[in-house]
Amino acid sequence: MLLEREFIKNASEIPDDAIPIDPEFSTKAGLCIPAVCYQDIEFICTDCGRPDFWSAGSQQHYFEISKASPYKQPKRCYDCRQKELTRKAQAGAGPRHKPS
Ligand SMILES: [Zn+2]
Repeated sequence: MLLEREFIKNASEIPDDAIPIDPEFSTKAGLCIPAVCYQDIEFICTDCGRPDFWSAGSQQHYFEISKASPYKQPKRCYDCRQKELTRKAQAGAGPRHKPS
């Protein structure tokens, strides 16, 4: 399908371990993510400086199932993300903790 739409010139541009992006999403998203397929993205955690990676599967889930903003990508490793979530929850910033 990607070939038919001339998103890519040939199928070999997509590595075997990459997940092709639904063009519906890639046309909207292609900002922090590659235009044609998800691949594991390596990044350095902004909190502890450890290298971590964002898996192709997580990206697909993030953009296509969670409908998350394509402008965002993780900056923290899993451990620091959990700490940040805990910190926010304790600070009362989490919307789920609002009294109703
Ligand atoms: Zn970290």
